[in-house]
Amino acid sequence: MPIRLLSSEVSSQIAAGEVVERPASVVKELLENALDAGAKSVSIAIVDAGRTLVEVADDGCGIPAGELELAAARHATSKLVKSDDLFHIRTLGFRGEALASIGSVSRMTIASRTASAKEGARLKVDGGVAGKVEKIGAPAGTTVRVENLFYNVPARLKFLKADATERRAIDALTTRYALAYPNVRFKVTDGKQVTLQTAGDGDRRAVLAALYGVEVARQMLAVMDGEENIALTGFISPASLTRSNRREITFFVNGRWVQDFSLTAALLQAYHTLLMVGRYPLTALFLDLAPEDVDVNVHPTKAEVRFRNQDRVFSFVQRAARKALLAYSPVPSVSPQLWGSRSAPTEKREISVDWSVGHDHVEGETLNVERLNNESQPSHLQPSSLQTPTFHAVPLLRLIGQVGSTYIVAEGPDGLYLIDQHAAHERVLFEKLMAQHERKNIPSQALLAPEVVTLPPQSAKALTPQLPFLNRFGFEVEEFGVNAFQVRAMPALFAGGDPASALRALVEDFEEDETPLQAELEAKLAARVCKRLAVKGGQTLSAEEQRALLHDLEACSSPRACPHGRPTMIHLSVDALERQFGRRGPR
Ligand code: ADP
Ligand code: MG
Repeated sequence: MPIRLLSSEVSSQIAAGEVVERPASVVKELLENALDAGAKSVSIAIVDAGRTLVEVADDGCGIPAGELELAAARHATSKLVKSDDLFHIRTLGFRGEALASIGSVSRMTIASRTASAKEGARLKVDGGVAGKVEKIGAPAGTTVRVENLFYNVPARLKFLKADATERRAIDALTTRYALAYPNVRFKVTDGKQVTLQTAGDGDRRAVLAALYGVEVARQMLAVMDGEENIALTGFISPASLTRSNRREITFFVNGRWVQDFSLTAALLQAYHTLLMVGRYPLTALFLDLAPEDVDVNVHPTKAEVRFRNQDRVFSFVQRAARKALLAYSPVPSVSPQLWGSRSAPTEKREISVDWSVGHDHVEGETLNVERLNNESQPSHLQPSSLQTPTFHAVPLLRLIGQVGSTYIVAEGPDGLYLIDQHAAHERVLFEKLMAQHERKNIPSQALLAPEVVTLPPQSAKALTPQLPFLNRFGFEVEEFGVNAFQVRAMPALFAGGDPASALRALVEDFEEDETPLQAELEAKLAARVCKRLAVKGGQTLSAEEQRALLHDLEACSSPRACPHGRPTMIHLSVDALERQFGRRGPR
């Protein structure tokens, strides 16, 4: 084929591809424009996950009628004049491309009025073809209506994911901007339903509560730290509040939501040793630095940025987050090794430490040696897990007492057992629940007063279709208005447990595109609820309760690890005791 110049229609669709990938991209661009316009209130209407309609209405500065055509033209912006300005960007937009791009792949209507104008004006752009500017009556501010996205680019339409997924992307975006701009009132509607609403009163923790629920918001730790030309504010979760993926790690840089690998890495380093493997914190962190210290013009949708002094930013974020974490809780960490070797440093001979974890002594069962040999860890450090439920029982244990309101000390035929009450209780609840489930008979118990639980919009949406599952598991839950559920009964096993945390445990980790609560996931989800409702470390138990827990644990088929694979107990054998006290020589 000979070389030809592309028609303006084709070239603008190519450009649009960079900016407008899915309905959420439209929401992002329009939202950023509204914020740049100084809006105090932004209303977003979505229909069919944004395929049929995305409309963003703001009360910002408005566009003068005479500039309306330009606003919709490519490379037209009011936010930048000379190339040098690119290095001092204080607005979210600056490329002058969004409206042109969106207009080329949809039917777009811009209606706007500036505060000083008597009349408003309207411009329609249909598949990149602009009509005439018309005078209309309009409130001060701007409303951009985007209908039938990609109607003229069927190939793009095919790439869109299921409505639920596209909708989740929109929710993820709007909720984050609501957090970043607590002084702006946000309202998101889907048909008649209001799915997100914030007060715009500057209270960021209240926005957190609207998104994640009151309980999570209450636990989040405030971060507020600054040095010359750099500041970090916002919230991070304590080490006890985690997710199974990084999706709730949110960073804003100068008011812009970014996905930055090094910021995430700095944050995770702050949590070093505090989190279990595969667990991640939730954060809403806002990094502010001088505009000249950050290059925002490195990515078409501005989702990535580049820092002038990468190392400084990294270590600042790491220190600030760590400080917030430690202010909240000094890290308790006495490993069995440390404890056992207390006397070792002054001694010449190495005394081996025989606190052992997991299934060290195999009573009556043959361990699959081949499997263990394939693993890099020594066999006694391999706790059993959900997938390998057949390990030997624990012997009969005699209760000695509780240590630090967290561990139960007991004596067995071969020495001393130290039991983590939380992990042990998790295991007990889990096995009882699954046994009842297998018998298809989970006794449930009505709550004295039904409890209404409000969930963040995404979670509510994930939970709704799965209510039958909950009912199979002994819950009685029904929808109760927008994003709210009424819990009327719980499995009798969890009597007295908090219904709200049970529901949250079920929905907290849904993966994108995961169809939650399917049969093969039932055990995993049951384990989650058990974890949430098991007694916690730090809770004093009566001797009776301790004894009951030991007894229940003895009855478990896999008593040595919790359903998530953490050990429930460590064991100090008589033999090891004698070595430690020098009654016998080292091995
Ligand atoms: P950019 O935001 O990069 O400047 P856009 O294509 O998004 O490019 O918008 C072009 C111009 O239209 C903006 O520079 C701004 O002047 C004007 N504009 C767009 N949306 C709004 C709005 N909601 N309120 C006021 N002005 C707007
Ligand atoms: Mg813009």
